[in-house]
Parts: sequence; C-alpha cells; structure tokens
Amino acid sequence: MASIQNHTAYLLLGSNLGDRAATLRAAVQQLNELAGTISSTSSLYETAAWGLEQQPAFLNQAVQLRTNLPPEVLLDVCLHVEQLAGRERRVRWDARTLDVDILLYDELVLDSSRLVVPHPALPQRRFALVPLAEIAATTVHPVFGQTVTELLAACTDVLPVTQYYTSEAN
Ligand code: AMP
Repeated sequence: MASIQNHTAYLLLGSNLGDRAATLRAAVQQLNELAGTISSTSSLYETAAWGLEQQPAFLNQAVQLRTNLPPEVLLDVCLHVEQLAGRERRVRWDARTLDVDILLYDELVLDSSRLVVPHPALPQRRFALVPLAEIAATTVHPVFGQTVTELLAACTDVLPVTQYYTSEAN
C-alpha cells in the first residue's frame, strides 16, 4: 500500500477449529495485503472455550495494523478475511473458523449500529488483554483512561490464557 498509513488499529484474531495456527497465519497475511501493514504481532495464546465443553480451545493473537482505512471500511475487510477462512473450510473439508475483532483504533470512541470501538468486551476478556498487553502494554484505553497493562491487572476473568508454541514461526 503506497499511501501514508496514518492510523493504528489493534485487532484480535481467534480460531478454534482445524489448523488454528495456519488460519491465524493466513489471516495476518491477508490483512497485510488488504488493510495496510501488520506492524506487530503477539505470540499465540490458547484459551479453553469455557462453558462450551464441546468446543475446542481457541487460539488468539493480537496484531497491530498501520492503516489508512476508516474504521467501518476496516470492519468490512475484517469480515471479508473471516469469510475467506470460511471458504477454505468448504474446499478442504476441514473445519476452521476465524474471528477478527477491532479492539482499538487510534484514540477513537465510536458507537454505531455496525461497530463499537474500543471493543466493549475488551476490559472483561483475559484472552484479548493478555495478547494485547504483549504488543501494546502502555497504550491507553480512550474510555477508561487506563493502559492495557492496568486493564489486565484489574481484569477479574479467571479463564487461563497460556502461551502456545508451534514448530513453525508465528
Ligand atoms: P461476532 O461474529 O460475534 O464477533 O460479531 C461480528 C459483528 O459484530 C460484526 O458484523 C460487526 O458489525 C459487529 N461489531 C461491533 N463492534 C465490533 C468490533 N469492534 N469489531 C468487530 N466487530 C464488531
């Protein structure tokens, strides 16, 4: 992308079916092609799908995106990348899903019918805060005025979030 990418967004990627790490890798690549530049990526973290025992555990990853897309256009790209993962599932016969959430977008506070930024569940979710803290520890939440590290320290979510290692590079 040639033009100046003057916005910084943080996204949370999640997958809990099929080759989860490969799904996240493909999503990072697609976002890098379609949305701007992925300038930082967290480790992968595994979180049990609490309360849904039939569901496999989730892998989550936070990424920093430099972009010139306005927030609602970025949402469209995120939904498109989710759909690309869905299409792969049908072709390959192996189930895989992908969720892409916009956690933060600059210091923007937005509440529209399609998009709420910062993501409203962020302060309550360790599986989002732990990876985000790895790449945006000192970033301040524009509504609560606390850093991501402070939000994580205050978070009462008890779900274990453990670093996940793959044999391939993340
Ligand atoms: P879900 O599949 O449950 O993650 O819901 C996806 C829908 O949530 C999208 O179609 C959006 O319209 C809406 N949404 C609202 N705020 C956000 C956000 N910050 N990031 C991603 N999706 C959002």
